[in-house]
Amino acid sequence: MEYDYDLFVIGGGSGGVRAGRVAAMGGAKVALAEEYRMGGTCVIRGCVPKKLMVYASGYAEAMNDAEGFGWTIGERSFDWATMMGKIDDELDRLEGLYRKGLTNNDVNIYNARAVVKDGHTVELSTGESITAKWILVATGGRPFVPNVKGAEHVLTSNDIFHLKALPKRIMVVGGGYIACEFAGIFNGMGAEVTQFYRGAQILRGFDGEVRGHVADEMIRKGVNLHLGTDVVEIVKKDDGLHVSCTNGAVKVVDAIMYATGRVPNTEGMGLEEAGVKLGRRGEIRVDRYSATSCDSIYAVGDVTDRVQLTPVAIREGMAFVETVFNDNPTAVDHEFIATAVFTQPEIGTVGYSEEDARDDFDIEVYRAAFRPMANILAGRDERMLMKLIVEKHSRKVIGCHIIGPAAGEMIQLAGIAVKMGATKEDFDRTVAVHPTAAEELVTMKEPVR
Ligand code: FAD
Ligand code: NDP
Repeated sequence: MEYDYDLFVIGGGSGGVRAGRVAAMGGAKVALAEEYRMGGTCVIRGCVPKKLMVYASGYAEAMNDAEGFGWTIGERSFDWATMMGKIDDELDRLEGLYRKGLTNNDVNIYNARAVVKDGHTVELSTGESITAKWILVATGGRPFVPNVKGAEHVLTSNDIFHLKALPKRIMVVGGGYIACEFAGIFNGMGAEVTQFYRGAQILRGFDGEVRGHVADEMIRKGVNLHLGTDVVEIVKKDDGLHVSCTNGAVKVVDAIMYATGRVPNTEGMGLEEAGVKLGRRGEIRVDRYSATSCDSIYAVGDVTDRVQLTPVAIREGMAFVETVFNDNPTAVDHEFIATAVFTQPEIGTVGYSEEDARDDFDIEVYRAAFRPMANILAGRDERMLMKLIVEKHSRKVIGCHIIGPAAGEMIQLAGIAVKMGATKEDFDRTVAVHPTAAEELVTMKEPVR
C-alpha cells in the first residue's frame, strides 16, 4: 500500500522533533503534528524557561556575596515582567530554530492536534486524514492536580510562565523536582514561599543524606518547608487564597502552585482502539525498542513514563530511528542516567542512593562536606556535599551525589566515569584540579564508618 508518509510523528517536543528530523535526514518522508508550540514541554514550559528563572533568582544571593568581596551594591529590585519579556523572546528564538531544523530537512509540519485512527492513519483537528507506514507517538505529559477542594484556584508549572507579576506570598505543593526547584526560584526572587510536602522528606527516591542536606539549606535560605503536611481546602477571599492545612492551620497566600507529578497525554488519542496497550497511569506500554502493542506504532518520551527527562526522550527518539529506519535494532539504556535538580543549592546525581545500594550490594560510602572557598569571604555558611557509593568487591563507583554550585555540570562528567564502570581507585589515581570543589571527588581517602 502507498502511504502519504514513511513516518508521522505526533508531538513536537524533545523526542518527537529529534526522531522526525533524524529520520528525514536519513531520507524518510516525514510529517509532524504539534498542537501547541514547537519544542514541547522542555523548550516552551519546562527545562529552558525554568533554568532561566533559576539564573534570575540566583542574583540576589550573588549580590550579597559580592559585598563580602569588597563590592558595594546599591539599591536593587527585581522586575518579573522584564525577566519574562526576555525569556519569551528567547523561547520565540528557540521555537524558530526547532521549526527550521525540521523544515530544512523537508519535514512537513502540521500545526494541529493529531489522533490515531488506525495503525497507519492519523486524523488532524483540521479534518485531514493522513496515512503513514509508521506512527510515532511523542505527546509527552501534562501536570496532574489532585482532586482537592478549591483546585480551580491553583496554578501548575504551565501557568507560572504566563504570570504577569511575582506573587508576594506563594505556596508550593509537592516535594519532587518541580516543587523544589520553584520553591527556590520564588524564594530567590523575594517572594514569601511556603512549601507543603505530604511525606517525611522531600525528593523521595534520592539519596537520604542529599534529601536532608538540600531541605536544610532551602529552609536556611528562607523557604518555609512543612513536611508531613497537605492541603485540605482552598477558598478564595478578598485578601487572598485561604488554604486549610492538614495540621489545622489556615495559611493565606496570593498564589498556590501544585507540582504533584505529571500524567501522560494519551486521553482521547484513539490509541487503545488502534491496539496500543496503555498502563495503569495511562502511559503507553512499550518494549526496550519503544515498540507498542500495535506493530506500526512506536512511542517515546514522557508519554511512555519511563524516565521523564529531555535527554532520555531524545535518546529514545534516536534509538527508534535506528531500529525502524536504519535496520539496526537499538534499545535505550536507562541505567546510570545522570541528572540535576536545579534546587538552590543544586543537586547532581548518578547511580544508586546509599539506601538502595545497601539493599543490593556490600558497599563503602565516601563522603565530604565542606564550605566551598567562595562562601568563606562571602560569609555564607552553606556547605557542599559529595558522596561516592562504592561496591566493595568490584570497587566500582555505583553512585555519585553532589550538592552545591555547578553540581549539574560536575555530574555530567562524573557520570561518564560511573557509566564506564570506573573504580574508586580510578578516581583516586586521577590528579586533582586545584583549587576547585570538584577535586574532593578524587581525594576522599577513608570510607565513612
Ligand atoms: P514533550 O516535550 O512534552 O512534547 C510533547 C508535545 O506533544 C507537546 O508539545 C504537546 O503540545 C504535543 N502534543 C500532545 N498531544 C498532541 C496531539 N494529540 N497532537 C499534536 N501534538 C500533541 N527535563 C530535564 O531533563 N531537565 C530539566 O531541567 C527539566 N525541567 C523541567 C521543568 C518543568 C517545569 C517540566 C514540566 C519538565 C521538565 N523536564 C526537565 C522534563 C522534560 O521537559 C520532559 O521530560 C521532556 O520535555 C519530554 O519530552 P517529550 O518529547 O516526551 O514530550
Ligand atoms: P515528581 O514525580 O518529581 O514529584 C511529584 C511530587 O508530588 C512528589 O513529591 C509526590 O509525593 C507529590 N504528590 C504526588 N501526588 C500527590 C498528591 N495526590 N498529593 C500531594 N502530593 C502529591 O513530579 P514533578 O511534577 O515534580 O516533575 C515531573 C517530572 O519531570 C520529574 O519526575 C522529572 O522526571 C521531570 N523534571 C526534571 C527536572 C530536572 O531534570 N531538573 C526538573 C523538573 C521536572 P511522593 O513523593 O510522596 O509521591
